[in-house]
Amino acid sequence: MSYIIKGDTGEWEVVIGLEVHAQVISKAKLFSGASADFGAEPNMQVSFIDAGMPGMLPVINAHCVQQAVRTGLGLKAKINKRSIFARKNYFYADMPQGYQISQYDMPIVGEGILVLDMPDGSTRSIGIERLHLEQDAGKSVHDMHATKSFIDLNRSGVALMEIVSKPDLRSPEEAGLYLKKLRSILRYLGTCDGNMEEGSMRCDANVSVRPVGSTELRTRCEIKNVNSVRFVMQAIEHEAMRHVDVWESGGKIDQETRLYDSNKNETRAMRSKEMAHDYRYFPDPDLLPLEFDDAFIAGITSTLPELPDDKKARFMKDHGLSAYDAGVLVAEQENALYFEEAAQGVDAKLANNWVSTNLFGLLNARGIPITESPISAKNLGRLLQLISDNTLSSRMAKDVFETMAETGKDADAIVAEQGLKQITDTGAIDTAIDQIMAENADKVEQYRSGKVQLMGWFVGQVMKATQGKANPGVCSELLKKKLES
Ligand code: MN
Repeated sequence: MSYIIKGDTGEWEVVIGLEVHAQVISKAKLFSGASADFGAEPNMQVSFIDAGMPGMLPVINAHCVQQAVRTGLGLKAKINKRSIFARKNYFYADMPQGYQISQYDMPIVGEGILVLDMPDGSTRSIGIERLHLEQDAGKSVHDMHATKSFIDLNRSGVALMEIVSKPDLRSPEEAGLYLKKLRSILRYLGTCDGNMEEGSMRCDANVSVRPVGSTELRTRCEIKNVNSVRFVMQAIEHEAMRHVDVWESGGKIDQETRLYDSNKNETRAMRSKEMAHDYRYFPDPDLLPLEFDDAFIAGITSTLPELPDDKKARFMKDHGLSAYDAGVLVAEQENALYFEEAAQGVDAKLANNWVSTNLFGLLNARGIPITESPISAKNLGRLLQLISDNTLSSRMAKDVFETMAETGKDADAIVAEQGLKQITDTGAIDTAIDQIMAENADKVEQYRSGKVQLMGWFVGQVMKATQGKANPGVCSELLKKKLES
């Protein structure tokens, strides 16, 4: 999927790297015991540490460390057995310590890989540069008072994983796929809920452009804190065009931090980009280096779930699904679990059709997640068995599916109530055919003298006589035999 911007002077390629701040799923904050829950009243979840009180000492939350290692393993990344917390010094009104505790030259997780599932079924590997642990800042509230701003420190000190990609992405679409895949992996791992609307996953995009064929890296701009996948894609597209316009008109791009305005679909300069030395990083003297051994890592490895890439490969191998179909099913763990339960003992392609088309269609129409599906995986599985053993035609099955969705009843109950069993008993169909042939001797004659297109009419008559319950396959087979004898 190549993405090329055609300018006045030639063709341009876009170079994108993403930095994602993912909030760690944890009861307590990174260095304090205060709650990290979302949605509490302002300033109700603030310890002395989070408020930056003098003399308070941070204590590392072991669970957050495990979550970071777990995420690193999920990204097939190098786990650094020794890492260092560093102070990143800058002033924000909502950051009372006057510095953020982060990691600098020795992060907890090093290089890894994230595999993109492209729409054509192919894959593309994107490099992960690093993952480090750091604290979140508080929140300034500017819209509650005409002349005053308020500060809410509930978020201050909450654990974040900053996950930095290499500049390997080449289009807004790839950036979108990267974010969705990362979110999928984090959710499988249970290390971040990936909820961009609540801010538990936020994305900064580094964007630059270069002439197609060139390998140089031109000056990039960083678009800060974009809070939806769609906006990230739009912001990148807009920013890349802006760069092309600037370069082509003989100007130059300044390295700076920009904000994306989704209402106007434009980016605006926010501040000139700080360099690392502006932050005067130094190892935090209040915290020991983080050190762990192979057994610690092995212990976490042993608890990893089957992740999307492995699950996709298994669905392709064991169930014979296409790369695309398998990719759709495994993107959300709940969908994959549902599919596997529904597909038990039936053809996987049949199950995939019903889950991906009928069930997802129903869920989309109602705007509900699969965990609230009115049709359980077990019930859909039973419906699929009734299709497989010819009890129900696919037309009948669609009706049963709709009744299941409305009533929550299982397929057997609906089949019994409505007397829906498809007739596969050849005796009953035989009788119907004999009667129709006896009553329509002229049509039988016409068929026998070569008007074979009458077959459709005969099948229709048998279906009518059996109230649509005859198995159409069995029906035309028997008709053929009798008409041609
Ligand atoms: Mn950060």
